[in-house]
Amino acid sequence: MSISRDDALEWIKTCAGVLAENREYLIQLDAAIGDADHGANMDRGFRAVMTKMPDIADKDIGTIFKTVGMTLLSTVGGAGGPLYGTFFLQAGMKAAGKMELNLEDWVTALDAAVSGVIMRGKAELGDKTMVDALTPAVNALKQALEQNESIKQALTESTEAAKQGMEATTPLVARKGRASYLGERSAGHQDPGATSSYLILKAAMDTWAN
Ligand code: ADP
Ligand code: MG
Repeated sequence: MSISRDDALEWIKTCAGVLAENREYLIQLDAAIGDADHGANMDRGFRAVMTKMPDIADKDIGTIFKTVGMTLLSTVGGAGGPLYGTFFLQAGMKAAGKMELNLEDWVTALDAAVSGVIMRGKAELGDKTMVDALTPAVNALKQALEQNESIKQALTESTEAAKQGMEATTPLVARKGRASYLGERSAGHQDPGATSSYLILKAAMDTWAN
């Protein structure tokens, strides 16, 4: 089983739907420890991505992901835009020319995506950022690949790891981004970026695991 070009497009569409549905939720999370724009940022970015769909419908997966990245970079400000832009650009680089991805290809692409976020944002695990959801998800995928698991199993485990990572941000004190200005007062709130990352990875599972 592999992830086809159509599956990749379907994932992006699902992301747009899920981020629109969770717009208010992400705004509320960001209102508590940031500036209340994360939900609007992600929704605006993926709405812009949806307008590019006709141009990329017949393109390879690398071009699809790179177009998503460029669109997020140019339409989403703040910290989230450049970080998610980098995420999709890096994934797109690894998927360049590919019309389908097997599990190993997906692990390679996601690993590069998350490394790109870490390089750009310099956040470490435990800094209360999206990295806290993304890194455990990549680690779970790598383990699933080593153990020759199915794509379905791998996606389920990586989504669960992202969920746990997202939930684990709640007690943390933020050390990166706007939330870090609050110091100790950032503790007790789930990080908005870790939440959007979980939603994006869950969308991949929901789209591809059937
Ligand atoms: P802004 O903070 O500029 O308003 P957003 O609200 O869109 O941007 O995104 C905030 C999210 O970005 C945070 O919840 C956090 O997960 C993530 N973030 C902020 N700074 C970093 C960083 N240096 N590295 C990784 N993620 C970060
Ligand atoms: Mg914000």
